[in-house]
Amino acid sequence: MKIYKKYVSFGEENILGKNGVAVIYPATPCAPLNCIFCSLNKNNPIYDVSNQILADWILETQPDSIEWCGAPDSEEAYEIAEIVRKYKNNCVFVLKTAGIDSPDYLKDGADRFFDIYLPDLKFANEKTSKRLCGDSDYPAKCHIALTEISKITSVKYDNGILKRGVFCRHLMLPGELQNTLEVLDSYKDYFLSFGWLLNFMSEYTPPKHKQPLPKNLLSLLSEGEYETALNYAKQLKIEIIKPS
Ligand code: SF4
Repeated sequence: MKIYKKYVSFGEENILGKNGVAVIYPATPCAPLNCIFCSLNKNNPIYDVSNQILADWILETQPDSIEWCGAPDSEEAYEIAEIVRKYKNNCVFVLKTAGIDSPDYLKDGADRFFDIYLPDLKFANEKTSKRLCGDSDYPAKCHIALTEISKITSVKYDNGILKRGVFCRHLMLPGELQNTLEVLDSYKDYFLSFGWLLNFMSEYTPPKHKQPLPKNLLSLLSEGEYETALNYAKQLKIEIIKPS
């Protein structure tokens, strides 16, 4: 299998595990999107690893979860999930995607492999979506995927650790607060009642390889923007999970 990078992260939300999360990015993390702020440099080298090497790495690092950050509808996710099942059966498989996987793929994965869905809720409005990722249909596709996820998931915790369910993230971008507020509105209207978890990612840094960027994306997120989003979430009665 060709991968872009793999590492064990101890900075993920505690709810995903306290012994680290093994994060794997395949060679093509998100084929259909072209986010102008993407931090992944697609010109970086790609590594070829065998299933056995991945299995050894999982056994060696003993993570609580495996976070697979693949392209929507990626068959490789099944392959990795199978390795996880075979070599470390108590390890949770987390499907982290841009949130636009097809309903059939999601359903098939739920029946066979996926424990936790970790969609990144990017944009809730077509114009913003077109401007920032080149695809005005992203909000509609994301809505369809989340609706399917709402039908196929059940929530399970063990000692305060999420073992099955849905954990949404939203990357906040500097100068794009309106987008965040719209994402929260849409989440509240359609998905809040399912009791999922949501976190803001506030660590955006301007990617050097993506210059030139619009002026607002050349800076960091301000504390004011983050606080405003948190307060708005509170107003909507959406609980935001903080990273560990
Ligand atoms: S979905 Fe994520 S990985 Fe894909 S282009 Fe956008 S920011 Fe990059």
